[in-house]
Amino acid sequence: MSADGPRGAKPAPEAPWTLESFLAHALAIEEEAALRYRELADQMELHHNPETAQLFGELAAAEAEHAARVRQLIGTRKPPVLMPWQYRWHGAESPEASPYDAAHYRMTPYHALQLALAAERHAERFFAAVAEHAGEPKLKALAQEFAEEETLHAERITAVLVRTPSPPADWAIDFDPPLGLG
Ligand code: ZN
Repeated sequence: MSADGPRGAKPAPEAPWTLESFLAHALAIEEEAALRYRELADQMELHHNPETAQLFGELAAAEAEHAARVRQLIGTRKPPVLMPWQYRWHGAESPEASPYDAAHYRMTPYHALQLALAAERHAERFFAAVAEHAGEPKLKALAQEFAEEETLHAERITAVLVRTPSPPADWAIDFDPPLGLG
């Protein structure tokens, strides 16, 4: 997966997954997504963009629900511990936006939506690739189902994104950064 860049430590979707390691990965992906969406929803409130805030709030709930379901599937198994770079949003951050450092307070709705869309597509591709390469039928079906869910999320984001004006080219220039964050 060239999109994962020089880190290169991400597990390849074509690697032989066990159901257990796949569920652990899926749980990390869904939990982090829920967290990011809650953050983005708060950000969009600050931007007085209720439509985008509501979308992110709903997506946070959807991802949290999905995480709960995965946790149920994991049950009493002991899933492997994952490293942070194995999560969804790390591959999705666009280099110029780097939204989760100190600059993210000024991210516009347009950029937030683009970031979210990239994260959904990233997860969709990942789950689809696992489904494609999985030999075990249960794992294959589950990965396929997860991929389809991410497709739906991406479509919801796209529907709002097409109505969202792109910001001016100088959006990242901040003449008055908040103290302690700049
Ligand atoms: Zn999603």
